[in-house]
Amino acid sequence: MSNIEQTLSIIKPDAVERNLENEIKTIFQNNNFKILKEKKLKLNKDEAEQFYKVHETKPFYNDLCEYLSSGPIIVMILEKENAIKSNRDLMGATDPNKAENGTIRKLFGKSIDKNSVHGSDSPENAKIEINFFFKT
Ligand code: UDP
Ligand code: MG
Repeated sequence: MSNIEQTLSIIKPDAVERNLENEIKTIFQNNNFKILKEKKLKLNKDEAEQFYKVHETKPFYNDLCEYLSSGPIIVMILEKENAIKSNRDLMGATDPNKAENGTIRKLFGKSIDKNSVHGSDSPENAKIEINFFFKT
């Protein structure tokens, strides 16, 4: 049975800063993702804290929110068969040093914090995250 899903992808500040937007979008398109909606914006610290609220008890939370709000980001709704897992596979491991060859994080990530992309990790979170940026 087909399972077309939508997931939220973010091109993070370290990648936008290095002008990797088009290269990363091309990778998504070459892997059969449709970019349904996209926009460029900059979050403030409060908004980044809200977006990453699931991580609020983690030691890296403050730095993470500082970083996500440090510069422009590109947010996109990606659609594909099993988009959520497919995007996580294409992104690679959180730590670029541990990511598989050919993944976005292996190609472009600089470190575990500056790892170039975000992707929703479950159908529930995909809904919440899409709504966060694209509430109609
Ligand atoms: N992160 C970090 N230090 C860590 C773990 C995570 O700076 O030890 C950052 C990293 O940018 C990661 C984000 O926090 O992308 C969210 O962490 P998560 O475990 O959800 O990883 P992801 O789902 O992005 O792979
Ligand atoms: Mg995550």
